[in-house]
Amino acid sequence: MIMKGKRGLIVGVANNKSIAYGIAKACHEQGAELAFTYLNDALKKRVEPIAAEFGSDMVYPLDVSKPEEFEALAENLEAKWGTFDFVVHAVAFAPKEALSNPFVETTKAAFDVAMDISVYSLIELSRHMLPMLNDGASILTLSYLGAEKYIPNYNVMGVAKAALEASVRYLAADLGPRKGIRVNAISAGPIKTLAASGIGDFRFILKWNEANAPLRRNVTIEEVGNSAMYLLSPLASGVTGEVHYVDAGYNLMGMAAVDEEDG
Ligand code: NAD
Repeated sequence: MIMKGKRGLIVGVANNKSIAYGIAKACHEQGAELAFTYLNDALKKRVEPIAAEFGSDMVYPLDVSKPEEFEALAENLEAKWGTFDFVVHAVAFAPKEALSNPFVETTKAAFDVAMDISVYSLIELSRHMLPMLNDGASILTLSYLGAEKYIPNYNVMGVAKAALEASVRYLAADLGPRKGIRVNAISAGPIKTLAASGIGDFRFILKWNEANAPLRRNVTIEEVGNSAMYLLSPLASGVTGEVHYVDAGYNLMGMAAVDEEDG
């Protein structure tokens, strides 16, 4: 029970297919106490039973485009916990047309919303939680290979993930000297979730990853959850500013795989 006595905030559960759900599950299994946020009233109905499944009645609204909701969240956590130990940021959004149209057609409005919801929210969340974080606390966000390499249709979200990974490094350098706070990202392989369904031809990305990753399969939210739990726990006390791949090894491939039957 490596997370016994640890308390953490999970931002980004939409349903039980969410990567944040896999992370919550792994942390709960290791004894962590959890609080959750939901985007809107429709998702509140989904998130409340999930929180209950993990023994929590701490469920608060957070639309990261609304600064006042960060303040209310901080007040709620301060009143209930006072201090805590980890934060999971598993939030991303870009308008659907920006994830299927040619990249050059990306509008300024789509660019701004992708950067605001998917990148700036990590900085704003970190800043609001900082006064309550214990020594050695851990912050974790979720990225994707599209930050570094071209992935069809990932478009503006690839640019946002590149900025997110850079933000992880800057936050790690900024917060490390203060209370030894660590900041890391997991670059997860493709997984069928609500957010992923917004990416044009996502099924092809899944099939390609499965066919070409060294493990010849895709990863699960449980696998991402277990790796996340490690990064959030004292087991990773020497790790900060990292982007850790949990992608069945796909990121190392320079060419498509050749299997026996392919000749
Ligand atoms: P998901 O749809 O389950 O989770 C995305 C979450 O973002 C949802 O809970 C949604 O409510 C939340 N969100 C969107 N806009 C928001 C806003 N304005 N304020 C607050 N919350 C908001 O999908 P997921 O795949 O679990 O996504 C979680 C993270 O993992 C994202 O950062 C995503 O880019 C990343 N990721 C996903 C994959 C994948 O293939 N699924 C791969 C690598 C990285």
